[in-house]
Amino acid sequence: MAIAFLLSVGPSAAQRAAETPDPLRSLVSRLDLERYKATIKGLTVFGDRREGTDRNRSAIDWIESQLKSYGCTNTERITYNFQPRPAAPRAAGAPPPLATGVVGPQTETAAGGGRPRGVRVGTGVNTDPMKQPDAKLRELNMQPSTPGQRQEVYCTKIGTTHPDEMYIVAAHMDGHGWGEAANDDGSGTALVMELARVFSGPDVQTDRSIRFALWNNEETGLNGSAAYVAQRKDLQGQEDPPGSRRYPEPRWLGMIQHDMMLFDHGAPNADGTMRRQQRPEADVNVEFQATSKLAADSQALGWVLERANEKYASDYAVTLGSHMTNTDSSSFMDLVPSISVRENQRGNEIGSGWDPQWHQPTDVYATYNDDDFRLGLNAAQTTLAAVAQLTGMTLTK
Ligand SMILES: [Zn+2]
Repeated sequence: MAIAFLLSVGPSAAQRAAETPDPLRSLVSRLDLERYKATIKGLTVFGDRREGTDRNRSAIDWIESQLKSYGCTNTERITYNFQPRPAAPRAAGAPPPLATGVVGPQTETAAGGGRPRGVRVGTGVNTDPMKQPDAKLRELNMQPSTPGQRQEVYCTKIGTTHPDEMYIVAAHMDGHGWGEAANDDGSGTALVMELARVFSGPDVQTDRSIRFALWNNEETGLNGSAAYVAQRKDLQGQEDPPGSRRYPEPRWLGMIQHDMMLFDHGAPNADGTMRRQQRPEADVNVEFQATSKLAADSQALGWVLERANEKYASDYAVTLGSHMTNTDSSSFMDLVPSISVRENQRGNEIGSGWDPQWHQPTDVYATYNDDDFRLGLNAAQTTLAAVAQLTGMTLTK
């Protein structure tokens, strides 16, 4: 009798758990390389998308129409005014900047506080149209920026049980340098759009809300994200109208910025040249800022991405660092746990010339191959899985 009873109870709890499909794995499988590449390619139709131009405004319209087509239909825009200011003079005693592409002495400290190693190659923003060999692209990028009104777009997945709380998943859609801003930051913009698509699936439910934001004016000094913070930080958690269970600005739980996702060919060679292929040990660099008010909580958010990466990303690992700098998560870092996700560390590595396309005419779609695009896809898998966990994602079918 006892044996018959044991047989009748079927598989053990552990066996049942092993057989239950993992909804996170199922969600991550909805990302794919060709869709990600196609979204980057779609953004490059608008050239470098420089802020304050018609091509920038057309790109915002296109992004908004794409978000709606994915089912993220509640798109909104904020409007702000941008007046460029002259660049601050170089600090007394600071070394003169190294010309773009020139090998020179390494600095003691990097932007964001890190200690750079190895060869340093000068970086800068290309402003010479004639450096763009493609005449059609040069023409597309010709209209200059004019000061004045700016917009940026976002859409929101509303949480079912906590609509009043959200994670912000973001990238900047503007670029410059007379290329296509394919990597900086078409790669991050496409990642955020792809996550908006997957989270908007009809069978995807989350307890908490997620906002997908595409900042403008990052390249002029984080002005778009700063405008968002200034306009909306005091609206957090307010129900409007009262009793409606609607929260125009859910309380911020975390901010995850994506900026330059594709290119990790390692440090420059001694003569300033680069390896032609993605290095096999390429990684997704997640950074928080050690000097920010919420460093400990931001670090903890970084580890959530690291664990999600280990379980769900197909090819490339996460490395966590403490020198987040020079991207829109800096606008949020003293208000909410904030991290950036990138191809390389921004200060130590990109700042030492690890990405020769950065702000250059060569930042075009055709520069990158599938090993590069796959690094961006792995970052997408990482953030998707982490945010799904953080927001209590379930699949209803
Ligand atoms: Zn950028």
